[in-house]
Amino acid sequence: MDSAVARAEAAAQRVQDSMVAPIMVDGTELYVSVSMGISLFPQDAKDANSLQRNAEATMYESKKIGPASYAVSSRGAFDSGAKLQFVTRLRKAVDTQRWTLHYQPVVELATGRMVGVEALIRWIEPDGTMVPPNEFIPLAEELGLIELIGDWVVRELVFQSQAWRELDIALEVGFNLSPRQFWQPDLSDRILRRIADGGVDPAHVVVEVTEGSAMMDPDRAQEILWELHRSGLRIAIDDFGTGYSSLSRLREMPVDVLKIDRSFVSNVGTDEQSASIVSAFLELARGLGIATLAEGIETPEELDFLRRHDCMLGQGFVFSKPVPPEEIVAYALGGVRGGTFGAVVAGRG
Ligand code: C2E
Ligand code: MG
Ligand code: MG
Repeated sequence: MDSAVARAEAAAQRVQDSMVAPIMVDGTELYVSVSMGISLFPQDAKDANSLQRNAEATMYESKKIGPASYAVSSRGAFDSGAKLQFVTRLRKAVDTQRWTLHYQPVVELATGRMVGVEALIRWIEPDGTMVPPNEFIPLAEELGLIELIGDWVVRELVFQSQAWRELDIALEVGFNLSPRQFWQPDLSDRILRRIADGGVDPAHVVVEVTEGSAMMDPDRAQEILWELHRSGLRIAIDDFGTGYSSLSRLREMPVDVLKIDRSFVSNVGTDEQSASIVSAFLELARGLGIATLAEGIETPEELDFLRRHDCMLGQGFVFSKPVPPEEIVAYALGGVRGGTFGAVVAGRG
C-alpha cells in the first residue's frame, strides 16, 4: 500500500513539474495549474466508477492545500460520498438560487459614520443553515458555477442599493470577485449591464479583487482594472498584505481603496510587529493617494490604533457583523444594536 502511494505521488509530482513552464498560445504565455486526487485500487474502491469518483472527491481536498497540489484519498479520514453529495447540493442551490446577501457596514473611522457596506454571500440550506462563502466559493469556481453565482450577487446588490436609496439611505456598495470571476473575458460588460439595468450609478459600486488574484498576472489584471475603472466603478484591493504585490505595480493600477487584511489588523493595538506593518501600509497608501480600510477590527484597542494612525475606513465586529439588509436600514436610521456602538455607526448617508 505504501509503495503504491509513493509511486502514485511520484507520478503526480512529475505531472506538476511538467506544468510549471508556461504554455505559449499565439505569443501569449499561459500558466496552468493542476489539482490532483489519488485514489487506490483496491483499498479505496473496487470498481472503476467508484475509484474515479473517489479520486475526484480527493482532488477537491487537494485544492484546500493550494492551487497546484495533489492529495491522496484516505479511507475513513475522508468521506468521498459526503463530498459528492455536497457537489450535488451546490448544483441544486445554483439552479434554485438559494443565496442571500448579508451586508457589513463600512465605517469612516474619524466620524463613526457608516458610509458603505460590503455584500457577503451566504448559501441557505433547505433546513435554514447558512453556509459561509469560503466553504463553497472555491468549489463553485471549480465546477464552473461561479459566473452564475456572481451574476446573481450583482443583480441582488443593485436591487438592494436601489431599495435603500428609495429610503433616502445613500451607501457605497461593495462586492467580491473570486479569482476565476476576475479573469472572465466579458467581466466589465456583465457587471455594467446589471448595474445599468438596476439604474444604479457605477460610482457608488465598489468591486473588490483580492491582491492574490490581481498579482497572479499583473499585466492582464492592470488592463481589467483599468477597464472597470474607466466605466466608472470603484476598485478595492481586498486582503492586502497577503499577496506579494510589487509596489511599483500598485502605483500603476487604478486602485481606490486598499483593504488591509485582518491578519495584520488583529492585535495591532498590542503587538509591535503588526503595528509597524500596518503603519507602513497606511503610509504607502497615503503616498499613492489611495483610501485605506482596515478589515476585521474586533477590539477598541485596534480601533484606537487605527484612528490614531489616520486609517480612513474600517470594517469589523467592533462595529457590526455582516447583517441582513433590514438591519442596515436600522443602523442608518438609528445606530447599532444595543447602542454599544450607536455613537460609532450612525447617521444617514
Ligand atoms: P472578504 O471579502 O475579505 O470578507 C471579509 C470576511 O471577514 C467576511 O467573511 C466577514 O464576515 C469576516 N469578518 C468581518 N469582520 C470580521 C471581524 O471583525 N472578525 C472576524 N473574525 N471576521 C470578520 P465571510 O462573509 O465568511 O466571507 C469570506 C470570504 O468569502 C470573503 O472575504 C470573500 O473573499 C468571499 N466572498 C464573500 N462573498 C462573496 C461573493 O459574493 N462572491 C465571491 N466571489 N466571494 C465572496
Ligand atoms: Mg471583501
Ligand atoms: Mg478581505
